[in-house]
Amino acid sequence: MILGIESTAHTFGVGMFSNKVISNEWDMYRPKTGGIHPREAANHHVEVAKEVVKKAMLKKPKAIAYSCGPGIGPCLKVGTIISRYLSNKYQIPLVPVNHGVAHMEVGLWSTKAKDPVCVYASGGNTQIIARDKTWKIYGETLDIALGNALDKLARDLGIAHPGGPSIEKLAKKGEFIDMPYTVKGMDLSYSGIMTHARRLLKTHKPEDVARGFQEHAFAMLVEVTERALAHTEKGEVLLVGGVAKNKRLIEMYKIMCEERGAKFFVVPDELAGDNGAMIAYNGKISLKKGFSIKPEDADYFQNLRVDTDLEKLFRL
Ligand code: AMP
Ligand code: MG
Repeated sequence: MILGIESTAHTFGVGMFSNKVISNEWDMYRPKTGGIHPREAANHHVEVAKEVVKKAMLKKPKAIAYSCGPGIGPCLKVGTIISRYLSNKYQIPLVPVNHGVAHMEVGLWSTKAKDPVCVYASGGNTQIIARDKTWKIYGETLDIALGNALDKLARDLGIAHPGGPSIEKLAKKGEFIDMPYTVKGMDLSYSGIMTHARRLLKTHKPEDVARGFQEHAFAMLVEVTERALAHTEKGEVLLVGGVAKNKRLIEMYKIMCEERGAKFFVVPDELAGDNGAMIAYNGKISLKKGFSIKPEDADYFQNLRVDTDLEKLFRL
């Protein structure tokens, strides 16, 4: 029975995992205007923490797992301090978890995918990753993340954060329009198409811009994923992260995978976005391997990558 704490960005989440998800509660910071303001988001986490922990902690945990990065510094700090406090209070081990790895591991657990090319598409990350002894990044965005681009586009339309779901709804009613398409080898770039789309809003219908943006941005991601399948010779694709809730993206992946004879898996909606249960689950994996830290050694890393060896990092 592990308690997991997630606080890397907009969401303060707490979940419990034993051999299944026992609880998964969260409260999301929603800025009134603009994007995520680091200090405001951190203040939000401080305000809701007690309530979310209370709702999620259905039993006394055997260990506390927490997201130690990557993420927004002030937000990570809140989760780290609360986790250290709980570990001290209950005199139980503290387990740092790599947030990106947590998205993929909970995807593997919930879908039964075995050895997939993982697509991690969220508000802050867009990466194509696969396992080869350790997690390896095969391709990624060179600038902003896919979720972030959707959120920014939505903001221009007066839609509050997070904008991805609203863009998805709008796009269903829209006509296809041409936009820039930027794939560079195994990497992709979303800043150009986003700027272009924001400009088009002055002359085109919002639903057409939404449709055009989705079709191009998603196709870019699917193209790089297909190339990763070819390079790695793997036979599965697993889609994780908040953008994995998008039905059009799922549809495009299904088509590509079917044409290649690959299996397609997508993490269920309730485990797609940032959440505490995935952190608890990953804490359990690490504990099984014998990895935990003392509360006084608790720390966080804004720029952690999925290929970083946490045990080594905390030993230094
Ligand atoms: P995460 O950072 O993993 O919690 O994911 C949050 C991101 O997922 C935000 O950028 C959202 O706009 C995006 N998102 C959530 N639902 C959808 C959706 N249905 N379509 C596209 N993006 C989405
Ligand atoms: Mg995330």
